Amino acid sequence: MLQFLRQWFGGPSSPESKPSPGLMPETQACPVCSADVGYYPRYPRYVCGRCADQAVSDDGRPLQFFDSPAFTGRYEDTGAVYPLDVCFVRGVRCKARPAHMGGIVIEAAD
Ligand SMILES: [Zn+2]
Repeated sequence: MLQFLRQWFGGPSSPESKPSPGLMPETQACPVCSADVGYYPRYPRYVCGRCADQAVSDDGRPLQFFDSPAFTGRYEDTGAVYPLDVCFVRGVRCKARPAHMGGIVIEAAD
């Protein structure tokens, strides 16, 4: 909510910090909480780290995804394998997958 308000009211941005038309933007917005995240055209809807930490299954159990040795999802509470790549972040349906540069990327699915 704080993030949202800060964005809504303009925040500390100055005219110089706004991207000029035609230049590559430096950030994009997390689709769940609207926080600024690094611009990554390959993943236009990836969620920020804080949101990725809140990924849960459809029955609300915390999940963790790993990319090594193979892409695997696990329930954080029991360590049991979670067989899907679909997860939910604050009610937004997302998909986890191995990131191009390693690690896991979670993207809003809708
Ligand atoms: Zn976020």
